[in-house]
Amino acid sequence: MKNYKHILLLFLLPYSLIAQDSTKDPLQKYWKLRVNLSTYVAQKEGIDIDPKYIYYDFMNLPIGIPFNYLEYIRLDKYQYVDVDNDKLILPAYQAYIDMKKAGSIHNAIINIKSSYRNKSTQVYMMNKYGDQHAEKPGYSEHHLLTTIDIRYCGENTKLFLWLLTHAHEYGWIPSYYFRKDSQIRKEAWHWRFVGKDAAQWYRSTWENEYKAEIIRLEHI
Ligand SMILES: [Zn+2]
Repeated sequence: MKNYKHILLLFLLPYSLIAQDSTKDPLQKYWKLRVNLSTYVAQKEGIDIDPKYIYYDFMNLPIGIPFNYLEYIRLDKYQYVDVDNDKLILPAYQAYIDMKKAGSIHNAIINIKSSYRNKSTQVYMMNKYGDQHAEKPGYSEHHLLTTIDIRYCGENTKLFLWLLTHAHEYGWIPSYYFRKDSQIRKEAWHWRFVGKDAAQWYRSTWENEYKAEIIRLEHI
């Protein structure tokens, strides 16, 4: 119970304060909250993550830390759309369609391999692939219904190059690809819709890494 209260407090804070933060520079935005979140992760998960790699998505859920999303996500707050035998939250679906259309003009064919995973599927994935390849149950971004695995999007593909160059314009980030402290391997196919503000933050934070990957892929 004590633990629950602690967590609740932490999350009530962002909901009320995020709206008030008028800092323009995305690298500085919500700074105090990001420091709190960093402390929380250090205590709960035993992992030190620099607040500069932590941010919030459009639902005020954290980006860049291991986090038990199932404890917080209010699935009843959103509308869902069925897509490719899967489900996405409406804003993610709209952004997916926009990105898919833009990509198809430039021969970047974007299709979903899988999006939503419930907890039991996650247990199955972890048993099958081990915890280096799948997050602990509850911790997967796939629970959010804003995250997709894109078909045929390996780390040496022109599709990945197009996504690195343009996906942030639609609010999407390769959230497991540039993450220093993750136990998880780099996943070029794993993309999370975080909203345009957060995607811009992510793009700026990992600017050098983005650039290096783009240059590498331009030469394959
Ligand atoms: Zn994934």
